[in-house]
Amino acid sequence: MINNFKNSKINVDALFLGPKSENAVFFKEMMEYSVSEHMHWRSSYHPEDPDLISTVDRYAPEYRDTLYRTEGILNQLSSKLKTTSVPWFSPRYMGHMNADTLMISNLAYVMAMMYNPNNCAQESSPTTTVLEIEAGLDLCAMFGYDVQHAWGHITSGGTVANYEGLWVARNIKTLPLAIMQHPKSQYLLKDKTEKELLNLSVSAVLDLIDELKKQQIFEEIRYLTCRGVGIEQGKLGKLLVPQSKHYSWMKAMDILGLGQQNIVQLPVDASYRTDVRKMRETVFTLIEQGEPILAVVAVVGTTETGAIDNVREVIELRRECEQRFGVSFYVHIDAAYAGYACAMFRDEENQFMEYENLLQCYHSEGLFPENMVWPKRDVYESFKALSQADSITVDPHKVGFIPYAAGAICMKDKRIVDLVSYHAAYVFEEVQEKQRKTEKTQNVLLGSSIMEGSKAGATAAAVWAAHRLVPLNVLGYGKVIAAGVITANWMIDKINQCEPFIIEERQFSIIAMPTPDFHMINFMFREIGNTSLEKQNQLNKRLYELCSYAAGRSYSNDFLTSSTSLTYEEYGDNPLNLCRDAQFSDSEWHKVRSIYVLRAAVMTHCLRDRAHFETYWAELKNIFEDKLQQLINEENKLNHSNYKINI
Ligand SMILES: *Cc1c(COP(=O)(O)O)cnc(C)c1O
Repeated sequence: MINNFKNSKINVDALFLGPKSENAVFFKEMMEYSVSEHMHWRSSYHPEDPDLISTVDRYAPEYRDTLYRTEGILNQLSSKLKTTSVPWFSPRYMGHMNADTLMISNLAYVMAMMYNPNNCAQESSPTTTVLEIEAGLDLCAMFGYDVQHAWGHITSGGTVANYEGLWVARNIKTLPLAIMQHPKSQYLLKDKTEKELLNLSVSAVLDLIDELKKQQIFEEIRYLTCRGVGIEQGKLGKLLVPQSKHYSWMKAMDILGLGQQNIVQLPVDASYRTDVRKMRETVFTLIEQGEPILAVVAVVGTTETGAIDNVREVIELRRECEQRFGVSFYVHIDAAYAGYACAMFRDEENQFMEYENLLQCYHSEGLFPENMVWPKRDVYESFKALSQADSITVDPHKVGFIPYAAGAICMKDKRIVDLVSYHAAYVFEEVQEKQRKTEKTQNVLLGSSIMEGSKAGATAAAVWAAHRLVPLNVLGYGKVIAAGVITANWMIDKINQCEPFIIEERQFSIIAMPTPDFHMINFMFREIGNTSLEKQNQLNKRLYELCSYAAGRSYSNDFLTSSTSLTYEEYGDNPLNLCRDAQFSDSEWHKVRSIYVLRAAVMTHCLRDRAHFETYWAELKNIFEDKLQQLINEENKLNHSNYKINI
């Protein structure tokens, strides 16, 4: 599988249909190929079978009418789609984690979709179940997991992947308690206090599973974990997540019956990453209080600022807790956004490169211009430490450039699946054994080991095919992702150097937040002379509306972005730095405690050429000027009508 990754020459522009459908001829040819192959497949199936629909049948009035109506509805749909869809393919769109999707994935999706495989069970998806397992292992390999022992699969998105991470963390936490409930297994953990039982390390618990299986009592005991008997309120301890978390973690605690009140939110530091010092303090305080820690979550690429948590510190903290206090916990990484960037650190042999070699390689292979250094050292260390986490969420439908719905979860030790699966525990093992012997999987029931049931095999085909064409290494995905990182960096430079816009004698400057860990940029406009943060927020909120589908026209809009509020609740007083950069007084921040910013995940591959970027920026400046003018016109109109009312 990994050998397939050896393909050093990728042309990034040849991977996408392109903003002007530059690859239209090829794309159409391949689409046509998919369709004709499929039709051939149908007609060649038992050619001796009689025709069930005759030519005469097809000339019947209702028959023709049905076809006409089919066409009519498709016309309607197409017209709806063309009027109100978001033009993600264009660099004029810089907002959510969306860009053009890979041609290979779109084609593979359509091709597989026509066969309608259901990856719930291999019986309904003999081809695509295997592809899903391969694609999952591709991601495991990228994260540095040992593919002989790891396991990964596709989910509908990062949300469900997070649920699944918490699901296994929850079930594993209760296994030692279950073991103590069964007379035949108590001996395994005798003399342990409940506190000790709730603080065993993940690998220690997984070794116990092996023991229970040998005695053939695993399934009985599995039923005595929370999956069979439920959870006593608050017993499993706290889930530690950064304040910058995605809200799927709140939903996860709700759905899994763990209770949102058992979330401990870790504050972030000035760079919007989890504050490592405070994380340590929190963990030590919980240990002192005898409170178990269900799991610690680190975010690799936060949804709002793209910050990359210090994963290495989390892993080291766990080691320290094990050594000093005999306390351990599950570690999950939410890398829904930036997970695919791990490809940027791997060479063609799938080795994680040394930092110095990496920077050299980026320049010699032309991934980054000479004067650009990415990543920061601590970001590098975070990606390196991913291989130590118990599970990782990653979204192919974000930075994997794959169409929806494609999330994924990778687990370091596949034995963990037995805690959530709904088939006899040995089946999975047996299948894996068979797979090793015959290189063939049979009767894999994904649906019984994962959160979802029926699901599109087409998604698996899309992810699998993308990984075959674009290797998960520096010269594959690395090149594609670097294009966005370059553009994000240039955008920030331009914003910082931009002269104020002067419109009807009012002046507006533009301010960017400091260089991000990945390719999410946050910026805002600022009217010079205004001292009210409230007014400032209104200005940017209105600008967002003018630059989004809220303006009522996505297709004819000149620039589309997204936005967010950096609030005290989520980020403490850290946004104060941004307020100060924008020259608002501290008291304004303490009064409003929220700052509205425009937010853009810069994912486009089209602007990595400096000349293209310069043209783009010049045009963008004009667009910004237009938007500001529009805003002032609105204000003038409003003032005018207020004036009339006052009279
Ligand atoms: C996008 C995102 C999610 C949720 O993923 P979906 O694919 O939208 O379900 C979770 N966590 C983070 C950090 C994200 O950026």
